Amino acid sequence: MTKSKMSQQHKSLLQGRRDLLKLAAALPLAGGLSACASTTASDKSATAAATSTPKPSAVRKPIVVSTWEHGMPANAAAWQVLAAGGSALDAVEQGVRVPEADPAVRTVGYGGYPDASGEVTLDACIMDHQLNCGSVAGLKRIKHPISVARAVMEKTPHVMLVGEGALTFAKAQGFVEENLLTEQSKQDWLVWREQGKAKSQINLENHDTIGMLALDSDGHLAGACTTSGAAYKLPGRVGDSPLIGAGLYVDQDVGAATATGLGELMIKTVGCHLVVELMRQGLNPQQACQRAVERIAAKIPNAAEAQVGFLALSVSGEVGAYCLHGGFNYAVQDASGATLTDAIHLLPGVVV
Ligand code: ASP
Repeated sequence: MTKSKMSQQHKSLLQGRRDLLKLAAALPLAGGLSACASTTASDKSATAAATSTPKPSAVRKPIVVSTWEHGMPANAAAWQVLAAGGSALDAVEQGVRVPEADPAVRTVGYGGYPDASGEVTLDACIMDHQLNCGSVAGLKRIKHPISVARAVMEKTPHVMLVGEGALTFAKAQGFVEENLLTEQSKQDWLVWREQGKAKSQINLENHDTIGMLALDSDGHLAGACTTSGAAYKLPGRVGDSPLIGAGLYVDQDVGAATATGLGELMIKTVGCHLVVELMRQGLNPQQACQRAVERIAAKIPNAAEAQVGFLALSVSGEVGAYCLHGGFNYAVQDASGATLTDAIHLLPGVVV
């Protein structure tokens, strides 16, 4: 992505945030949300819809789905693995390594926005069809946190390593330390600091984590989620993305879910586990994602000031996504080709 495109995008992000804050201010939260949500399914009607929705006759596999537009090239890499008969686990790892290495993707891996102190710290997790999972949080100077997360899963008795311990482990596994702060990210951080915004900035401008879910030819599910987290976050802040259940969950009996947006909201609701459990109760992926967003909007004060989006894939290859504000899109790839789709949203207005 060119610098001018980036800065144009940045301006529109800022504008989007301003519009949204106006919108949020105009909404008496409980009443406003329930008014907007009144067009969406209630608990009863969603369940009724779920039971009346015809089940697909055949399993759609292999298939891979990812959050955001940068999910397109990520899916393409994952598809190479899946189309060759590879595992969902290999596919999601290879897939999300694409944005991790791309400095133009400012919310994942190399080139990601730093924390308030100017340090890029990365969070990631990975999960397979047997509840095996691995995770790293606050990992510095390693370009591919997803592969470190996989090593935690496969080579330790633990699920999660953080900070210095994660870095020490990564180096012991042969991962090479490198600078992750690009000149562009450094300049943006300096501007942010000079503007005196010395507070944790978790808002609508920095919510483009990649979450990827795949179903392979053997019918096995896996998922991966990786991010640089909220731009200019307080050093030490961990979002939902490396937390199993919050930013990612996979259950082979049902399906898988991943999330993007303000991680604190997904942590408070254990959002991805919620989506999977709703699918277990009979909702399809779309309905389950919608219900989880509605839960967040109804229960968390000021949720409207943030974005959240869920993406889910059932064990039969059905896909669903839903977000709080318009602007969240997701990428799907299977044998019929690749698509990018805008997710349906709960509140009026679009945040780019
Ligand atoms: N969920 C991420 C976090 O809170 C942000 C994102 O989606 O980019 O760290």
